[in-house]
Amino acid sequence: MARRKLQRHSQQFATRAIHVGQEPESATGAITVPIYQTSTFAQTAPGVHKGYDYSRTDNPTRTALQAALASLESAAYCLAFSSGMGAATTAMLLFKHGDHIVSSRDVYGGTYRLFKRVLEDFGLTFSFVETSSAKEIERVMTGRTRLVWIESPTNPLLRITDIRAAAGIAHRHGALCLVDNTFASPFFQRPLALGADLVLHSTTKYLAGHADVVGGAICLNERSLYERLKFLQNAAGATPSPFDCFLALRGIKTLALRMREHEKNATHIANFLKDHPRVRRVYYPGLSSHPGHEIAAAQMDGFSGIVSFEVKRGLAEARRVLGRLKIFKIAESLGGVESLVELPAIMTHASIPAEERTRAGLDDGLIRLSVGIENVEDLVADLKQAMGRKVSIRLKTAVSAPA
Ligand SMILES: *Cc1c(COP(=O)(O)O)cnc(C)c1O
Repeated sequence: MARRKLQRHSQQFATRAIHVGQEPESATGAITVPIYQTSTFAQTAPGVHKGYDYSRTDNPTRTALQAALASLESAAYCLAFSSGMGAATTAMLLFKHGDHIVSSRDVYGGTYRLFKRVLEDFGLTFSFVETSSAKEIERVMTGRTRLVWIESPTNPLLRITDIRAAAGIAHRHGALCLVDNTFASPFFQRPLALGADLVLHSTTKYLAGHADVVGGAICLNERSLYERLKFLQNAAGATPSPFDCFLALRGIKTLALRMREHEKNATHIANFLKDHPRVRRVYYPGLSSHPGHEIAAAQMDGFSGIVSFEVKRGLAEARRVLGRLKIFKIAESLGGVESLVELPAIMTHASIPAEERTRAGLDDGLIRLSVGIENVEDLVADLKQAMGRKVSIRLKTAVSAPA
């Protein structure tokens, strides 16, 4: 096979993000990995080819992306998919009728939907528990448990699970541990080093980073598991296009730079909101008051760029704030260079019945920010004006009007 050999992880993260899997192309010296926009590859004799025979199975642009991602997760292997959910669906094809899966309770909505509304019909069973408590995980493990699926930090309350502890429980019961690492990105958290078996990404978010492509990936170390997943990737066919791989690769080159800025801005904004009179609560793993802060500080290299907060007066006030924000755009998704804002009760988590939302701690006045990498003073000023009292805004406008 002519597949490029994975380079060793000896260089620093920012260097690997730019170079691993991305050596100049051999025929022309092109610095950037080309978009190999081809479905098939010429064979010199039947069955004799240069490592590529059909683009669902393998494509050189995808090979480059997979090598780069594997390196960033300090993994031996990576497989790229057409979306995060494509990756999740393919991962779940490892299991069969009768298998039991333990999942974080506030797992990504699309993952919950896949588990509850698709895979239960295929005879898989699920227990959704608060995985931030090791006792809770332990309590639901059975002889048929094959997987512990964790998200940390979670969406939108940024709950933290001790990955090492969860993986330990999974392994003692002969199960695998998968971590959806989308919210942290490999720049801030590398779950395989903490004992997880599989790392899943929606590359749509921080990894690609520019809100211009949907993609997914799974990274892992174990060879036989990789071979099974590689078979399933080709068998199920949720593979990314060469252009999508190119976009994800281009985004990854600046991951280190972007993540530092996301975190710096998010920290600043979390501290601004914490002291704001109209805010009841701020959720950000970097705040020492955040439940799980100590574990996050121990298992992560930083706290990433998502900040959630509750306004005191509930949904009406939250709506008003969103209506007034100018730089923060109202949109689902996260992890791009631009700042986004959303109301979980109405947008990402609307499909959860109100009662269950309340039980899960999702207040109707909860606002989630995906803090971008714009100038932080501009972002704070935007929040300040959006959250100011109507009357004070009017006064301020009147005073500054002549200018
Ligand atoms: C977006 C997201 C997914 C799903 O990824 P898609 O690329 O949208 O299919 C999975 N997990 C998390 C945590 C996400 O944020």
